[in-house]
Amino acid sequence: MKDIRKINNEEIIRFMEEVGEKKFKAKQLNEWLWKKGVHSFNEMLNLSLELRQKLTSNFLLEHLSISDKFESRDGTIKFLFSLPDKQFIEGVLIPADKRVTACISSQVGCPLNCSFCATGQGGFSRNLHFTEIYDQFLLMNKESIETYQREISNIVFMGMGEPLLNYEQVLQAIELLTSTQGQGWSPSRITLSTVGIVEKIRQLADDHVKVGLAVSLHVADPEKRLRLMPVTASNPLPELQKALQYYASETGNRVSIEYLLLDEINNSIQDADNLLRFCKVFPVKINLIEYNSTDARFRKSPPQKTSVFMEYLEQKNLIVTMRQSRGDDIAAACGQLAAKRVRMNIK
Ligand code: SAH
Repeated sequence: MKDIRKINNEEIIRFMEEVGEKKFKAKQLNEWLWKKGVHSFNEMLNLSLELRQKLTSNFLLEHLSISDKFESRDGTIKFLFSLPDKQFIEGVLIPADKRVTACISSQVGCPLNCSFCATGQGGFSRNLHFTEIYDQFLLMNKESIETYQREISNIVFMGMGEPLLNYEQVLQAIELLTSTQGQGWSPSRITLSTVGIVEKIRQLADDHVKVGLAVSLHVADPEKRLRLMPVTASNPLPELQKALQYYASETGNRVSIEYLLLDEINNSIQDADNLLRFCKVFPVKINLIEYNSTDARFRKSPPQKTSVFMEYLEQKNLIVTMRQSRGDDIAAACGQLAAKRVRMNIK
């Protein structure tokens, strides 16, 4: 049997006709599937019992389920989601003053192997289907309403995986979030975070994708970056810089540069100066990130060195913010998502 969310609308209309139903039933069905996100045909109350039974015997309606939930003392909640093929991914809800941000995953594991990140160390399993990406939103939105009495206000693709290596499915999930068929959100509420896949950044510009773009740069020196982030070999920094320049000029968007501060690796004035030179050809905002411990080889930048680094950039008129770490007591902070059960399954 096919999963109803993996066939196209024409096939659904054809099915309705075959079972003697009116065409507009397809529209009602779609609302249950994409706007409300129910988990069974039986919940589709404006469809007749007979039609619900026919749907149940002809189609699957697969969905993610919450297999575990961890709450941090700062209000952050990490979810372990189980997929239909029994693998696991993680998602995080982060409440703030007026916002609730959902951090969602785009792949099971990650193929990039950045040395400071726990996700890559568990290996890569597969890409997520767009329904699996979208389901993370649907499930976490219900939880957000229950726990914080507020809907999710922002989504960041900063969970497990590299969204630009799963381009088609990520874009389809974004389409559902932003179109009237799904949630009708403004794309400005969504941020895609990438390690810097050059070709796909150009494609985002050419496809006029209007979500925000964040680039996990972390080091602006080519050799150092190659050592920390092997993806630099196939996406050299000068090419990345040109792609970002192109992206900014085509979209009019400012690029967010993520910069993880690692003591004695990338937090000197020389490093700040390299960063400045990398960013001077496109409009930019810098987010400094505190290192969340995942590996004994790295240490956090001490506060005093961090302020010197930050002030240097500010003096050069860059917009710089320091991202507060959230949920580190439950391993939900940036770079700590590893869906431990995935690793147990692989072994
Ligand atoms: N692959 C995409 C999406 C993941 S986002 C990307 O790299 O942008 C996860 C963010 O957390 C990235 O910026 C990543 O570099 C950062 N990160 C990884 N390990 C970290 C750690 N130990 N402490 C803080 N941030 C980390």
